[in-house]
Amino acid sequence: MAKIGKYALMGNEIIETADAQVSIASSAVLYGLSVYSVFFGKYTPEGMLCFRIPEHLKRLRDSAKMIGLSNVEEELEKDLDIEKIKELIKLNEPKTNQFFRVTVHAISEVAGVRTSNLELKTSVFMYEAVNILPQDKARLKTSLWRRTADTAIPARAKVNGAYVNSALAKQDALDSGFDDCLFLNQNGYVSELSAANIFMVKRGELITPDCASDILEGITRRSIIELAKEAGINVVERKVALTELYTADEVFACGTSAFVSPIVDIDGRKIASGQCGPITKNLRNALTEAQAGSKENWTTLL
Ligand code: PMP
Repeated sequence: MAKIGKYALMGNEIIETADAQVSIASSAVLYGLSVYSVFFGKYTPEGMLCFRIPEHLKRLRDSAKMIGLSNVEEELEKDLDIEKIKELIKLNEPKTNQFFRVTVHAISEVAGVRTSNLELKTSVFMYEAVNILPQDKARLKTSLWRRTADTAIPARAKVNGAYVNSALAKQDALDSGFDDCLFLNQNGYVSELSAANIFMVKRGELITPDCASDILEGITRRSIIELAKEAGINVVERKVALTELYTADEVFACGTSAFVSPIVDIDGRKIASGQCGPITKNLRNALTEAQAGSKENWTTLL
């Protein structure tokens, strides 16, 4: 189980995480009506160096907007104060890298299945940052469960309830002895993993499913695209077929809690040499450096 900080933010109050609760009668619990984002904080003796907070908060707002949580702007204005997160870090005294989970919960009770004019409450808790995938040898299983379509529950909105789709596919992959699932969308094109985006390298180009492939538009994905372009690598966002991945020169997954994880096997087919490839290695190093502050406007010291 994750090592969770003793204190959390609930609304604009810092309380013990164990006491930070949402009602069993709330829309959040009844229908999964909450939106969230998780950002990474690198431990330094001076404080936590947090990665791309404004981008995470923008996606949180966008997720709320997509599903129609109408009061989100007022709620975040009232309850999400970066200075409070700084206070939270001081109280929890982390000594390792951390993930920060920011959630906006719909706390209205028995409001019925609707999304507008619901009371909202924001929570933040932190927990030790442990990679969700093995760092050098992740193996994927193409799932029989398809990614929820944009016309059902938009994958680009980070909605708590939508993660049933990820849980079904991930569990099936784990039960079959793999590390994670690979989702195809309703059209049969490659989408993403349960909680990470996917890239492949082919003939020196970096290729990833486009934003209309029912993906979450990952902040790590966007960062990798920017870092690759800076390194002079051509990046293409397009539809990707499963069999293209089987024959790729390199495949990797990326995300806040997957960092950059080389994929060495998909459905029992070895990817290239079955080792972490050179472009994956370089992009992983570039991301690690960016998270350590090499790109100043990507990090905030809290
Ligand atoms: N896809 C899904 C379904 C995810 O849950 C995540 C993790 N947030 C990602 C991709 C990667 O997104 P990010 O880089 O913003 O963490």
